[in-house]
Amino acid sequence: MVRENEIRENEVSVTPPEPTDAGLTFIGRISTPWTLRMETPRQGRHDGPICRIEIYEPWVPALKGVEVFERLEILYWLDKSRRDLVLQSPASNGKVHGTFSLRSPVRPNPIGTSIVKLEGVEGNVLLVRGMDCLDGTPLLDLKPDRTLFKPIAPPQPGDFQTDENAP
Ligand code: SAM
Repeated sequence: MVRENEIRENEVSVTPPEPTDAGLTFIGRISTPWTLRMETPRQGRHDGPICRIEIYEPWVPALKGVEVFERLEILYWLDKSRRDLVLQSPASNGKVHGTFSLRSPVRPNPIGTSIVKLEGVEGNVLLVRGMDCLDGTPLLDLKPDRTLFKPIAPPQPGDFQTDENAP
């Protein structure tokens, strides 16, 4: 069951510490077909509808080169989530799970991630499939899918370090 903001049987909320400013800035917004949490996919799918990721200035030049990647990793701020639950009952049946054992949007820092299929780039807008967020969700970051990306910078010692030769 998808929550609005209710607390369910056996769930536990805490009083979070005062937020400190991590210096995050929203670099764009994600347009999707979904306006209700109840109707939004729990995880996006690569045969799902096309969604638009709009990048704001001054970050548009940072899109240079993204078009070569078939898949991107998108990080976004699940802005409608409550942030105070440590135990959650996704099935609303009294059985609870620790927040960090779930991919629930309800978490102390409600960051969502999705690997999306890049379908096109139109100026400052990426067309992608695979999102699972509400229309208007703020964008935090995007980067190539790590399984497709090869570092461009020269190798450094830690790249070759294994447990056997660790200090
Ligand atoms: N794929 C991401 C992940 O695994 O980190 C997010 C998964 S989360 C289970 C997706 C759900 O979050 C959606 O089904 C919807 O109920 C909820 N959601 C989507 N956008 C949201 C928003 N802007 N604020 C709060 N909840 C949102």
